[in-house]
Amino acid sequence: MFGLIKTTLITTALLTVATTPVLANEVNVYSSRQPKLVQPLFDAFTSETGIKVNVSFLKKGMAEKLKAEGKRSPADLIMTTDISRLNGIVEAGVTQAVQSETLSANIPAQFRDPKGQWFGLTSRARIVYASRTRVKDGEVTTYEDLADPKWKGRICIRSGTNAYNLALTSAVIAHHGKEGAKIWLIGLKANLARKPSGNDRAQIKAIFAGECDISIGNTYYMKKMLENPDQVAWADSVRIVFPTFKDGGTHVNLSGVALTKAAHNKDSAIKLMEWLSSGTAQEIYAETNGEYPIKPGTNPSALVAAWGTFTADTKPLIEIAKLRGASLKLTEQVNFDE
Ligand code: FE
Repeated sequence: MFGLIKTTLITTALLTVATTPVLANEVNVYSSRQPKLVQPLFDAFTSETGIKVNVSFLKKGMAEKLKAEGKRSPADLIMTTDISRLNGIVEAGVTQAVQSETLSANIPAQFRDPKGQWFGLTSRARIVYASRTRVKDGEVTTYEDLADPKWKGRICIRSGTNAYNLALTSAVIAHHGKEGAKIWLIGLKANLARKPSGNDRAQIKAIFAGECDISIGNTYYMKKMLENPDQVAWADSVRIVFPTFKDGGTHVNLSGVALTKAAHNKDSAIKLMEWLSSGTAQEIYAETNGEYPIKPGTNPSALVAAWGTFTADTKPLIEIAKLRGASLKLTEQVNFDE
């Protein structure tokens, strides 16, 4: 009896598979990006192409989850922020390369993996928020300046082991070598007004409260503060300064996308990747989350444009990603957070 039911079920299942061709009209995404940031993009993609996008939000552990799921993973694409996280997922062996003329044309070479394993979709600069009243124009112009004793007791920053700060320290290593970066970290630590704690916005709140005069944070947090009635005053207490490396530009990081090795809807997934790099998508991104679009010829939102222009540092992001281990080691060696 049971055997019969089982056989019938299997037969039905086989028939279903045989008679229903895989239409590949959906894409499954694991995203660490907030729902409200990516949903408008997926909605626009679906209405344009008819391809449904299912998204699971994962705050952490994306590489581990994909590894554990192996070939059975439902995910076709992963979307996350930070170059080291993207690179970490690639190094976990759970992605596959994509060759696409559209992606190559839309995404400048420094914002994608040379082997096609990951593609940047937006960028953000890691900059200085300076007190409007206590820091004069031109007083801080370089990342190297942040280690100058003139800032003693005046800087606030989140944990040195946070991904954004590790990427910045990796960039310092790329410019000044490990020894130079260690000296920089020691100098920066000596200038801190308090032990690193809280997120990027907590540091700006501290400037507002008079605890420190400058902080380091990502650009888009200015937009987030301006949209939150409780935080507008924090935003109004600072101005954005785009520091540069003495021999380079402003440190940028990115958010990006990669095709999973397990992808069951590969064609649709690549379509979504390509669409996310299009002008339409890049402008939705720019308006929604206050990041910088990366497709040449697309503009940031009016608010973001008003912060001024900058020249992005040209050290390849893949090099920055690979220095993460060295950067973490130095940060721990100098007891940055203690
Ligand atoms: Fe962030």
